[in-house]
Formats: sequence, C-alpha cells, structure tokens
Amino acid sequence: MSNSISITTVKESKVDTLDFDTIALGRTFTDHMFVCDYEDGEWKNPRITPMGTIPMHPACMALHYGQALFEGMKATLSATGTPLLFRPEKNAERLNFSARRLGMPEFSETLFVDALKQLVHLDQKWIPPHEGSALYLRPFMFADEAFIGMRAANSYKFIVMASPSKPIYTNRVRLYAETTFIRAAHGGTGEAKAAGNYAAAVLPTEIAKSKGFDQVLWLDANEFKYIQEVGTMNIFFKINGEFVTPSLDGSILAGITRMSVIDLLRHKGYEVVERPITIDEVVEASNNGQLEEAFGTGTAVGIAMIQEIGYKDSLIHVSDSSPVGQLVLDTINGVRIGTLPDELNWMVSVEV
Ligand SMILES: *Cc1c(COP(=O)(O)O)cnc(C)c1O
Repeated sequence: MSNSISITTVKESKVDTLDFDTIALGRTFTDHMFVCDYEDGEWKNPRITPMGTIPMHPACMALHYGQALFEGMKATLSATGTPLLFRPEKNAERLNFSARRLGMPEFSETLFVDALKQLVHLDQKWIPPHEGSALYLRPFMFADEAFIGMRAANSYKFIVMASPSKPIYTNRVRLYAETTFIRAAHGGTGEAKAAGNYAAAVLPTEIAKSKGFDQVLWLDANEFKYIQEVGTMNIFFKINGEFVTPSLDGSILAGITRMSVIDLLRHKGYEVVERPITIDEVVEASNNGQLEEAFGTGTAVGIAMIQEIGYKDSLIHVSDSSPVGQLVLDTINGVRIGTLPDELNWMVSVEV
C-alpha cells in the first residue's frame, strides 16, 4: 500500500470558536480526522478529511459482534511551540496487539505515527497551551462490513479523531473494590484495548457511582483477591517506602503511563516492584499506617491520587503523607511541554 496520505482541508477552521478555559470535554473535535479503509486484504486510501459523520449500514459488524478497539494518547506544545507526541510508537504497538487478539488486521506502525503527526500538524492550533491540558488523540478501528453472521469481518475502518482536553481529576478519587462483577479473566480480552471491555464495566461503574465512589477497583476473576486495575487506569501503591503495582498477568491493560511511571520512579531512585498484590495486603498496610499513598495512572487523567477504597462494608484509608504521585504528574506534565528535560526520551516532535 502507498503510505502517502491525501489531505482535504476545511474551507474555514472552527478553532476561533474554541475557548480553552471552557472546553466541553469529549464533545469538542478539531477540524480534521484521519481515515483509512481495509478491503480485499489490505489497507487503502489513507486520507485526512474534514471532521464529520461517516455513513454506516445497520448490519455494520462492529455493532453486532463487537470487533472494535481503540487507543488514547496526547499531543502537547513544546516551550517553543512545536507539537509533541508522547511515545506514539508504544500506542502503535499496542493497537496491533489488540487487533491480533480481536482477529482484526494489523495497521502499519509507521503509517500510524505518520498519520498522527500529519493530523496534529494540521490541527496544531487546537492544542491547549496550559500545563496539564493537551490535545487528546483517539485512534480506533472497527469492523464495518455489512453482514449478519459470526466470523471475522472482511472490511474495517481505522480513524483518528482529536479533541482538546483539560485536566480531569483535581481531587483525590474514591474507588470501590468490586466483589460481584469482573472486568477480565485469564484468556479473555483484558489486555486488549477492546471496546467491549468497557461495555462490561458500565453497570458496575454506575453502581459504584450511585454509592458515592468515582471508579471501580477491579479484582481478579477467580478469587476476588488480587488487585488488577481501575476503570481506565493502572494502579500503584506505596507501602512502607516501596512502590508496588500489579504485574501484567494477561488480564491487565499494559498502560503506557504505567510503564513510563515505573521508569520515572526508578530513574528518581525509588524502589518499584511489579508483583501480584492482594486487597488484604492493602487493608493491612492501611491499618498499620504503612499505606503511604496510592494513585492511578492513565493517559486521560495522568495521575489520579487515591483517597480511599470501599471494600465490602469498610473503607480503606490511604495516607497522603508522601505525595510522590504529584511529583510524578508534575514531571510528566513538565516534560510534555518542554519546561523539564526529557531525560527518558519520551517525546517525539511533530515535524512534517
Ligand atoms: C487505556 C487504559 C489504561 C491506561 O493506559 P495508558 O496507556 O496509560 O493510557 C488502563 N486501564 C485500562 C482498562 C485502559 O483501557
């Protein structure tokens, strides 16, 4: 396939209607999107077009059988105004990991990064300049063949949308450890960024919210004992001076923020251990005054400090005596806008 992207621009940009201080999160989209079609065994016609609706047949297979996956990443502006991407090659790799698990075609990792660069370059005026804000990028792929019948689809679309965003959580969050429903089991799709994983999480999340919590803390599917992750974030605990995060066991989403936070903490001289961790151990650490902090990590939120965790009929209190998580967030945000040095070589500058 030819990797050259055809570009059709809007006649008039809508960027002037945007107020960076009052962005409607998740509802505001830039002028353009990237689209590519998979037909007859290959990806075709990579193009940037004006943002808009796409025609869809009611038999579109993704709507019935759920072959749909997504990615999430952010573009920021350097101190000198150059758009920057955060480790885009990692998202390209994970997109293909998810595609393989869902029986979907892989997408060229070079074209993935190139498409993002071209789209961000074209819509760079939409990147919010404030620290902690960013242009959120949503690459996604779905089966768009019109067919009723259960098999892998023969046609797919890969699309990238861009949406300006500001920081999401500002307060410490409250989690609810779920002991009835599960998110992922061994052999399932938990390690893929599959749209269906979120469908399974909707009801438990609504229940947790009705009880006054922000998000679900998922436990393992066999015993409801081992901690997996939070709704859209991986999780870290600081227990008695050491950071612990659940090891990737095939049912946990391998977050790029998680990977970056592990590297950054080690770079700053902290001990970080990836291992199975039980909810009982967290209860005990809290009771002994050794649960020094806990936070979630993910592209959308960055770092969300955790205040407490509802588990069965009690609340696990998390201390905030050593907010290293805040330091980590400030470092990541600073590196993203070039006010701190990019010591771990994360940022890719968008020059086309
Ligand atoms: C996307 C996602 C994360 C975070 O991954 P990042 O690459 O850090 O954004 C964590 N858990 C789930 C379930 C996710 O879908």
